[in-house]
Amino acid sequence: AEMDVDTIWMDGEYVDWEDAQIHVLTHGLHYGTGVFEGARCYDTENGPAIFRWDEHVERLYESCKPYEMEIDHEPAEITEATKTLIAEQDLASCYIRPIVYYGYKSLGVSPGDCPTRTAIACWPWGTYLGEDALENGIKVKISSWRKHSSSQIPTNAKTTGLYVNSLLAGEEARRNGFREAIVLNKEGNVAEGPGENIFLVRDGELYTPGLSESILDGITRDTVITLAEELGYEVHDNVSISRGELNTADELFFTGSAAEVTPIRQVDNVEIGDGSRGPITEEIQQRFFDVVNRRTDDHEEWFDYVDA
Ligand code: PMP
Repeated sequence: AEMDVDTIWMDGEYVDWEDAQIHVLTHGLHYGTGVFEGARCYDTENGPAIFRWDEHVERLYESCKPYEMEIDHEPAEITEATKTLIAEQDLASCYIRPIVYYGYKSLGVSPGDCPTRTAIACWPWGTYLGEDALENGIKVKISSWRKHSSSQIPTNAKTTGLYVNSLLAGEEARRNGFREAIVLNKEGNVAEGPGENIFLVRDGELYTPGLSESILDGITRDTVITLAEELGYEVHDNVSISRGELNTADELFFTGSAAEVTPIRQVDNVEIGDGSRGPITEEIQQRFFDVVNRRTDDHEEWFDYVDA
């Protein structure tokens, strides 16, 4: 296998890597009509534990709704397949990628009677933005590309086609020597990263763009809001954040299933705070990793154990 994957679950069957193929006239390939998830399974004392799996599965089904896509499998089967893939491939920790898409039947934009197809793959995936990123933070560039407005496409449905915008923003940033992008929404306010939500710290309080700012309703965003409030911080999660407010932030960080909690140390030419990971970011990050690695018994309800 090209990746560290032996087996992929496709439409109810466990398929060898080499055989996990689809037709070139697949609707989803031509029109971006797929929805997907990205979750992490952490290595814990009680074996591999999938973090907030129920929320990921729920979002997968909800992402289908605007496209009238009907998943041919019950959530329990998706869960069972995922756990089997993790157990059978002896993965201690991994990233989990379920995808649902229109397959091939006809090639009009209208999916007509195209079948809805489903696949799940799991693979070992280290730190998304680099090991150094978690400790020292990253440099990000405000993208010249704006985020899709939620009046143009439902941005709270995790749709494959949306990620063309993410690619444009991310690659533009990297071409210019930055690690990642920040994407503004159509109104010019801060929306999110290409694959991350964003938080701002100012005067000891946290701010994150509200759900009406054309963002994905991130599960890590929700996790961080919960953990920060438990640590005693005030969290403003229904605000608009202007571009200029980024410059005067004490701290900034990204959140995401892949990115986890990643500090941002510079935005364009401006150093944030003293240009390193801020203390509140560090505290929240520490708490996040204590929880996901099960160094605490708190929030047991967020974990689905593969070996249970
Ligand atoms: N925004 C976008 C555009 C994303 O792709 C992701 C990653 N799924 C996020 C935010 C973060 O969401 P989550 O914490 O649920 O992974």
